Amino acid sequence: MQKNDVIHGFRIERVRPVEGLSATLWEMTHEKTGAALCWVDRKEENKAFSIAFKTLPEDSTGVFHIIEHSVLCGSDKYPVREPFVELLKSSVQTFLNAFTYPDKTVYPVCSRNDRDFLNLIDVYLDAVLHPQIYHKPEIFRQEGWRYEGEGDSLCYQGVVFNEMKGAFASPQTVMYNEIQRLLFPDNCYRHVSGGDPACIPDLTYEQFIASHRKYYHPSNARISLVGSIDVDAVLEKIDSFLLSFERLEADFTIPMQKPIDRITEEVPFEIGAEESEQNRAIIASAAVLGSFAERERIFAGEVLVDYLAGDNEAPLKRAVIDRGLAQDFTLEVDDGVQQPIICWQATNTEADKREALEETVRETIARIVNEGPDRERLSACFNSLSFRLHDRDGVSWLPRSLAEGLSLLDTWLYGGDPMEGLSVEHALKSLEEKLSGDSFEALLRELFLENEHSATVVLVPSKTLGDEKRAKEAARVKAEGAAWTDADRARIKAQAESLKLFQQTPDSEEALKTIPMLKLSDLNEAPEPLRTVQSTANGVTVLSHTVDSALSLFKLHFAADDLSLDELPALSVLCHVLGSMATKRHSRAKLPLAIKNTIGKLDFSPTVLPGSDADHCRVLLTASVSCLRERTEQAAALLTEILRETEFTDADLVKEIVQQMAVGAKLSLPMEGHRYAMMRYGSYQTAFGLANETIGGVSFIQWLNAVGEGGEDAVPALLKRMEALLTKLAARSRLTVSRSEAVSDAAVDSMLSALPEGEAAPEQAFFKVEGGKREGIAIPAQVSFAVTGGSLLRYGMPYTGSIPVLANVLNFTYLWNRIRVQGGAYGCGFVGRDTGELYFYTYRDPKPARSLGVMREAAAFVRDFIKEDPDLTGFILSAVSAVDPLRSANVRITAGDNRYFRGITEEQMIERYRALIRTKPEDLLALCEMLDRIAKEDSVCVAAGKELLEACGGEIRDILNV
Ligand SMILES: [Zn+2]
Repeated sequence: MQKNDVIHGFRIERVRPVEGLSATLWEMTHEKTGAALCWVDRKEENKAFSIAFKTLPEDSTGVFHIIEHSVLCGSDKYPVREPFVELLKSSVQTFLNAFTYPDKTVYPVCSRNDRDFLNLIDVYLDAVLHPQIYHKPEIFRQEGWRYEGEGDSLCYQGVVFNEMKGAFASPQTVMYNEIQRLLFPDNCYRHVSGGDPACIPDLTYEQFIASHRKYYHPSNARISLVGSIDVDAVLEKIDSFLLSFERLEADFTIPMQKPIDRITEEVPFEIGAEESEQNRAIIASAAVLGSFAERERIFAGEVLVDYLAGDNEAPLKRAVIDRGLAQDFTLEVDDGVQQPIICWQATNTEADKREALEETVRETIARIVNEGPDRERLSACFNSLSFRLHDRDGVSWLPRSLAEGLSLLDTWLYGGDPMEGLSVEHALKSLEEKLSGDSFEALLRELFLENEHSATVVLVPSKTLGDEKRAKEAARVKAEGAAWTDADRARIKAQAESLKLFQQTPDSEEALKTIPMLKLSDLNEAPEPLRTVQSTANGVTVLSHTVDSALSLFKLHFAADDLSLDELPALSVLCHVLGSMATKRHSRAKLPLAIKNTIGKLDFSPTVLPGSDADHCRVLLTASVSCLRERTEQAAALLTEILRETEFTDADLVKEIVQQMAVGAKLSLPMEGHRYAMMRYGSYQTAFGLANETIGGVSFIQWLNAVGEGGEDAVPALLKRMEALLTKLAARSRLTVSRSEAVSDAAVDSMLSALPEGEAAPEQAFFKVEGGKREGIAIPAQVSFAVTGGSLLRYGMPYTGSIPVLANVLNFTYLWNRIRVQGGAYGCGFVGRDTGELYFYTYRDPKPARSLGVMREAAAFVRDFIKEDPDLTGFILSAVSAVDPLRSANVRITAGDNRYFRGITEEQMIERYRALIRTKPEDLLALCEMLDRIAKEDSVCVAAGKELLEACGGEIRDILNV
């Protein structure tokens, strides 16, 4: 394959190596339609595909957001109502979604299996190019908007309509929309691409269809592929969809916005009638940073953002907070558009502080420009950015290959070179050379003191805005209804009926069969192996992992198995304060700079692992570091400095942190009640569960409260305890080192020699559990989360690969129907983890007691279910990721370490995987004994508001208050 070759209709235009990525970038054009394609050819099993259309809003009706939803509601080849959901149930995909941006709509999929990858591409290309929206107008009314009710109850409804009402309740959305409207009055960025609820009902079905026809065309498509792709098969597949289209000559360039005069606007945002308006204003000011093509300038903007407001000691943030102008101050760059902007935002302030804020920004920037920036801080911020840009696994919710595919669009979408969006080396190198010159002063002056193109928005709280908006919407829909003729009324009634019929008609067997599904024989025979090599240095075990990362990754695990149960909460707080408290060499202000300079990511956490039986577990203090390779030795030195030289004297800071931890945990209860209830339930079962609950569950929150409210001595006593813990734990005889191959022996040796020998810990920790309980956790919200479960360790049963298949059967059929559909709970599920934990849980459940009853009948359901000799293929395919998950480099290292500590071999993992893919109905029958044991447990835990707890009656004996 080389330049100018034509493969399945695609001409290869350009082939280049990608600097810093061990990859080749292939650029191709589909000769017939002009569709553009980029392939980042890199050794990567998790393949990514995405198709992006440049979609330029001409109004705020949200037409492209509605199209994004609608094309996934069935297509000519796949005429089911939700192909998207069907794929989730039966594919081995590792990512499946769609996004609407201000100037594009993107449809990405990822998979590690070639056959599955082709299937996903097939369903997605058919969805975007041949959706059913042309002959099923019901889809527009379901996903976009429609009339519902009659007379006084006539109103608008629709999935996107309601979604955007929710989004508009956030002041952040209001602010962002206003800034865009003011900065870009002459191009598409002034419109709300997601849709303004006040404008969505302006959209007609005909306009919706016309927009799809105009923009969803191969000539307006950019397709990206990343990974070890079977390029012949994939191009053939894509070509088969494009062939039927003729080339469309359409101009979709976005005109560059000319500078506008500096402008300030006041805009109301909605707050509750009972809320105070005091200190609720938000003031934001944004300036155009440059154009998409100026990568170095955009990176320089990112460095300045961190320099000025990236931490509590940053000069601009400090100045605003010290002058009492706002409670919080942030600064950010908004990239991924044609003209990126830089925007500061002051929250919890008053509208009349605007001038003082603007003056503070000017004064602070002018001082930095005159005196010159603090070079130490500047280079720390540059290093931190350089780390983030090299950390290709940095976006936790996106697989790496997909993140790379999307980054191409940052320049490619606007006619720029896709390489510039993908590779950061060139721009970073050039920027690094400017750290010592005066370019940063010049940029500060341009952006903040002399910027021609900027706008300020003052968001003022309003108690009446909500009512005004509702009244306006009601008046509008009423006026429309009043103007209807009899014919209109009949037409709208018929539309409502056809929608109802559409929604109530289940997919036929025949239609469901069109959704492509792998055969079990298409799966790999074994899971992806973890490659870990064990060696010894200076008497310490060293685990070396082969992972694909440009960074250095290492962890120090210190055994803490001799800690008593009541020492565990102090261990948890210790992990939070390390890195924030001063050391002998670095003040509290300088330590964050040193960390930015040398370590990209630093994390301390307690690690708890299951032990040999229910009464034993393993407890470790784990320090994790990710850094640029060339800084490995410095990072190792800084880590040992923190471990050896932290000063336990800053009582004020520890008190603040303890209070923040308690407040944060309490706020998370109404959102994550199921997680807390599961943790609590686990504490009745095993030492492992008990230790986990003690370091992070409800009893930990109670412990934090006690310290926060405790007398003068509480915090100093905690400081002493943490100091004693760290002195004991940070020792060579307790240490296991884990590293990516990039970390040198010299770096490991330097850490080992910096630590004292210390005293070894016992092999395992012993904690006696108290046994079954029936507890309620009182939470300040009218929601509930019900949990019951068991433990394989206590039952003396092994974890097998069939357990995730059983979980899918229960989750997609029994629990879904009985608890979600019939019981009205928002979520529910069964999980069986390889730690031996077994849980049934519900999420936002209106009937917790009823749900607990349903959970106890699960075995009876399974026994019935297998009588029909069901086909388990879909349940097996979608369970594969339970024993063979997609793992980033960091997660691979954690998984390898856990296997070492737990003594799990690669052979055992292969055995689990094979058990999973060979699961037969009789394997599920064998697991019914486990479900029977769970049903007989005299234990429940329900996190709920007061009334819902009372409604549980005899299920609950004790109530915990947090
Ligand atoms: Zn949406």
